[in-house]
Amino acid sequence: MSDCLFCKIRDGLIPAKIVHRDEHCLAFQDINPQAPTHVLVIPNKHIPTVNDITPEDTSMVGHLFIAAAKIARERGFADTGYRVAMNTHADAGQTVFHIHLHVLGGRPLGWPPG
Ligand code: AMP
Ligand code: ZN
Repeated sequence: MSDCLFCKIRDGLIPAKIVHRDEHCLAFQDINPQAPTHVLVIPNKHIPTVNDITPEDTSMVGHLFIAAAKIARERGFADTGYRVAMNTHADAGQTVFHIHLHVLGGRPLGWPPG
């Protein structure tokens, strides 16, 4: 999608600190980190919200979690704890309409979130 910030990051048109890339997804550091590690994992495919995920996306969306766990292992907090979250629409605070898993770790995380 031409006017999507995360598609532009995927295509290298806007810079980001890339931490992982493969055939299905891209992971990069959040520009406004909320924890010592705050990485966003996006599918290469433009999907606006969780509501737009289709059955044919099942395996690719599962792959986002595989990538998140890999990042957590690499950062050393896979076993001590971390959070993956995907915000959907206004009440959850979604601001970029290309789905992304927030991977937050490196400090104790409160629950419930705000
Ligand atoms: P959400 O509010 O769930 O849609 O999350 C969007 C996230 O994208 C926020 O945590 C922002 O800090 C982050 N963000 C916005 N612009 C950029 C950017 N250019 N590079 C990296 N992260 C960004
Ligand atoms: Zn996009």
